Amino acid sequence: MRYVRFSHAGTTAYGILEAGRVRPMDGTPFDGFVLSNDTYALDSVHLLSPCIPTKGVCIGLNYRDHAEEIHAQVPKNPVVFIKPTGCTIGPYASIVYPALSKRVDYEGELAIVIGRLTKKIAKEEAASHILGYTCANDVTARDLQPPDGQWTVAKGFDTFMPIGPAISTDVDPSALAIECRLNGEVRQRSNTRNLLFSCHFLVSYLSHIMTLYPGDVILTGTPSGIGPMKPGDVVEVEIEGIGTLRNTVTA
Ligand code: MG
Repeated sequence: MRYVRFSHAGTTAYGILEAGRVRPMDGTPFDGFVLSNDTYALDSVHLLSPCIPTKGVCIGLNYRDHAEEIHAQVPKNPVVFIKPTGCTIGPYASIVYPALSKRVDYEGELAIVIGRLTKKIAKEEAASHILGYTCANDVTARDLQPPDGQWTVAKGFDTFMPIGPAISTDVDPSALAIECRLNGEVRQRSNTRNLLFSCHFLVSYLSHIMTLYPGDVILTGTPSGIGPMKPGDVVEVEIEGIGTLRNTVTA
């Protein structure tokens, strides 16, 4: 199943994607729902972020090749930081280039979407707490990211967490092809089998630190190939079995 959230004719709803059409639901994927008998053509709806996270919990340096490219040590424990809820935007929305930065980078990432209240769970329980997976871009003001300091400023600007287009429930997160393109040119290409810390481990680990709420997202880290974007650019993150998250950059 692939869940989306969308607006159509002035109303906002969750729905499922099937054969290029959107079938709305009464309810949400988090609380239970009844599917409508109607469907809409995908290009007749405005897709929104597929969930509304209270926070994005992000993992740094979770691919060995990326740690090496920025000359960082491969971490013994996950490097964790938070993006505030205002970072969230959906597919096709604009990433706004902040006046405070002179270098804003893309980071294509697999995101875990939490399905229910999650607190102090074992790794073996993680799957039952995950609704599914989506694409994310951990947009980063690289020039404002101190190597050994906290990353909230560099990672926390409004619009710096595009997610979408859909939440896929039927993918194996341990082996998904991931690609990030800038203006159609491939810049990052890897597979989630290269993750240092697995999705199930991360959900369990984080749940012993903070409560995770339905709709919260965990960005699992980026592979090598990070680089800058500028206003006017189009950035795409494509993950096998999920789809393509496409955003533009505006000044
Ligand atoms: Mg990242």
